[in-house]
Amino acid sequence: MSSNTYKFAASVIRRSDAKRGSIKSLVFNSTCAQKKKIYALVCETLKNRSLLQEVLDDSKLSSMEPKLTPSLALVLLYDFLLGKGICCGGPLKRMIHKHKTNLKETFLEISSREISAPVATITPASTLPRYVRINSLKMNDKEAIERFTHLGYTYREPSDKVMRRRKCDGTLSMTFHSDFDLPNVLVFPPGTDVTKTDLYTKGTIFLQDKASCIPAYVLDPPPGSIVIDACAAPGNKTTHLSAITRDKGQIFAFDHDAKRLEALKNMVHKSGATCVKVQLADFLKINPMDYKTVEYILLDPSCSGSGITNRDDHLTTHTTQDSRQKRLRSLSAFQYKILCHALKFPNVRRVVYSTCSIYPEENELVIQAALKKNKDFKLVGFMPQWKQRGLPIFKEAELCLRASPEINHTSGFFVAKIERIP
Ligand code: SAM
Repeated sequence: MSSNTYKFAASVIRRSDAKRGSIKSLVFNSTCAQKKKIYALVCETLKNRSLLQEVLDDSKLSSMEPKLTPSLALVLLYDFLLGKGICCGGPLKRMIHKHKTNLKETFLEISSREISAPVATITPASTLPRYVRINSLKMNDKEAIERFTHLGYTYREPSDKVMRRRKCDGTLSMTFHSDFDLPNVLVFPPGTDVTKTDLYTKGTIFLQDKASCIPAYVLDPPPGSIVIDACAAPGNKTTHLSAITRDKGQIFAFDHDAKRLEALKNMVHKSGATCVKVQLADFLKINPMDYKTVEYILLDPSCSGSGITNRDDHLTTHTTQDSRQKRLRSLSAFQYKILCHALKFPNVRRVVYSTCSIYPEENELVIQAALKKNKDFKLVGFMPQWKQRGLPIFKEAELCLRASPEINHTSGFFVAKIERIP
């Protein structure tokens, strides 16, 4: 990313504010290089605009750097505070780094003080790779690769230089590769349709975003474990857990929504798992003393869905800042309550908490509050190769993981691994 890329992204924001074109047309009809990256940068900046604007105002950056236009300041603040860090050299980088302490402190203060209600625009799901999770109860990776090769796809070794040059984002058509971070995950080009294959119809593969495969992988219950999936429907993570435990042990899968429970039952049936007990229940009403043998809990509660790239109901149904803030507050309170409930299970050793939200109020702040109340639990690090970590709202937040379209080519996602202190 060069200084000119940041300047171009800023000019797109300025022109779209002045209603001189949609973001998409301004970027994709231009002659600039790196269109996809610029588009993602603009979308993510706008998604977090209200938070970034507050940082800009409170830090007084504009008055200290009068040459910095407001839109360029927002783009730079996005990459510095929430993105990859300032990727260009030269005066822009020096300008931001000169104020880095002030900017970080202001950001931290604002993130932990209030509900930030970002105005979101959407990164189209069609620009993300198609991730396929192999159901290891039915097939191993080698066999699945052979089957796809048979169907006309070309497998590229993850070490393939072409893939590396393409940053492993699955943009080479009719090619696929194994994921670099997770086992049993294959990466296809965006928009690849595998739903007509019998692999899909028979539950040998599931279409599941890579980030959503992280929680079960990180919970990692050994075969024979007693596990709870507290908010389980429609069952992506339940079926992943049953594969990880090799269908040995017991998984209690709860959901309080009868309709979604049907989808959960179907998915479990399709996966071939037999160790899952599906139950219509409000997890908050489950008595922890009735589940004394449970050692592992996966908690993926309802959230704003703000990280989902093809969903915008978190915006359209809550159009005013006030109603967005109210909704976030109530989600955040629910998430805190349900996480504290999970930590009440007398023999639980590990809880993995996840959301498909980008808001700190549903993520780091929930973890911080729950750990403050439950002193016998702590955050534990995982996947050290993964660069994007929790927002630095409190010291240990860097042990959490964040995923985003522009950095990881996934939906926006958050995962925290919590363990009982021995
Ligand atoms: N883990 C699921 C998967 O990977 O397919 C997705 C879970 S979705 C984000 C959240 C689910 O939590 C919804 O199905 C919702 O009905 C359920 N839920 C919300 N509150 C609940 C509660 N108190 N008890 C049980 N389920 C709840």
